Amino acid sequence: MSTSQTPARLRVAPSPTGDPHVGTAYMALFNLAYARKTGGQFVLRIEDTDRNRYIEGSEKQIFELLRWLGLPWDEGPDVGGPYAPYRQSERLETYKPFVDKLIADGHAYYCWCSQERLAKLREEQQASKQSKTGYDRLCYGMSREEREKLPGFTPTPVVRMLVPEDIELTFTDLIRGEISAPMPDDQVILKADGFPTYHMAVVVDDHLMGITHVVRGEEWISSTPKHLQLYKWLGLTPPQFAHMPLLRNTDHSKISKRKNPAARLAWFREQGYLPEALRNFLQLLGYPPADDDHEISSFDDFVENFDWAKVSTVGPVFDLKKLDWMNGFYIRSLEPAQLAERIIEHLQWTGQWPTPADPQKAKLLTDAVPIIQERLVTLNDALPKLGFLFTADDQIVIEDDARKTLPENWKEVVSAAIDALDGLESFSAEAIQGILREKLVEGMGIKPKFAFGPVRVGITGQRVTPPLFESMELLGKASSLERLRRFVNE
Ligand code: GLU
Repeated sequence: MSTSQTPARLRVAPSPTGDPHVGTAYMALFNLAYARKTGGQFVLRIEDTDRNRYIEGSEKQIFELLRWLGLPWDEGPDVGGPYAPYRQSERLETYKPFVDKLIADGHAYYCWCSQERLAKLREEQQASKQSKTGYDRLCYGMSREEREKLPGFTPTPVVRMLVPEDIELTFTDLIRGEISAPMPDDQVILKADGFPTYHMAVVVDDHLMGITHVVRGEEWISSTPKHLQLYKWLGLTPPQFAHMPLLRNTDHSKISKRKNPAARLAWFREQGYLPEALRNFLQLLGYPPADDDHEISSFDDFVENFDWAKVSTVGPVFDLKKLDWMNGFYIRSLEPAQLAERIIEHLQWTGQWPTPADPQKAKLLTDAVPIIQERLVTLNDALPKLGFLFTADDQIVIEDDARKTLPENWKEVVSAAIDALDGLESFSAEAIQGILREKLVEGMGIKPKFAFGPVRVGITGQRVTPPLFESMELLGKASSLERLRRFVNE
């Protein structure tokens, strides 16, 4: 791996506001890749300063799902590191001197305006279609005593940035080149509850944690001039910025958890996608390959060839058909025994199977994997395809669409199959096929479809199943005969 560049420090900084968004994984992937490319570090920081949106348990899900996806961090709340703590709520004292300095230098001011006043102000601005919107600076330059005499006062103030008229609105983005953002409002940097807002905390933490590259979603472009202004006032060197395009639905709308189940990172795990397939898929989204032959690529390849210039600025479309194809590819590239392990782990994770697994069932599943491996799209497909193997002989239900395929003489066919199989010594797929061919197809002159079809229905209850003879071998002679006998005698 080439580490010719200066080691870079990057971070992903999710807010624990609910079920993790797939975008968090997408950001983590690109941040991690660049850290690895330069031989630097990747940090996980939890941005939990918005207490109204804080959701208990969300942080744990972030840890679990990013680990599942194979995106480990070098420093973070759960692993520690030289810049701990990595949870913003544990760093409140850290932000204070920075806010105090901004106030002392006249770059920030207290604001005692109540929520009601601010809401009314917004309403008025909207109604009058004023070109200048945002906070009207009523509190700027006032003492508490002066402000108290006016309406819309609240005793606990917030602190706002005094955004200068000539704030630099243009900056250089590693992906987009020179870009501009609209004029910002006098952003609140310290809230009434004593917590900094994201804008203050992100600047202080990125600086103190030695972050060299901020890679985040394009929704933060409009905030970047405010951040750069804070760096300037505080006399700090800003990091470089790369704003990734937002993931989009096939109708090009922004992916949201409300509209698209795939916006939830956990959804992919629940559906039985392999983490390596999802990781590869996310790589492709921001980083279209040179041609279709390069769609499958390992994380190491991705790191090796990483280049910001290759990141597309057009919102990548989230095409689950591509992911299905990719997942099938990764499933087929596993050794059957490995795939069986992955299926069992998945069944245990979803709670369908207990831990530890029933050894007999685990063995049956492991033996059966080769007959379904080619046809699996997700790990969730495994058990339904093999359901007949795990069903007791007297519980097999003949499905209606399977029954419809039976020829008129099906009882005669199945009875002949029972006689033929009864005499078999070795119950291998090959021997089963051999004898059924000999007795039914050649002996009775029945077309293979009508000879084997009824046997399939009797064995599985279904019309479409994994290969029949292999399935019978897995079931064994006693079970296979029992099922066929029950079927003709029903
Ligand atoms: N906490 C922000 C988020 O959840 C992070 C933005 C950033 O990376 O600066 O989107």
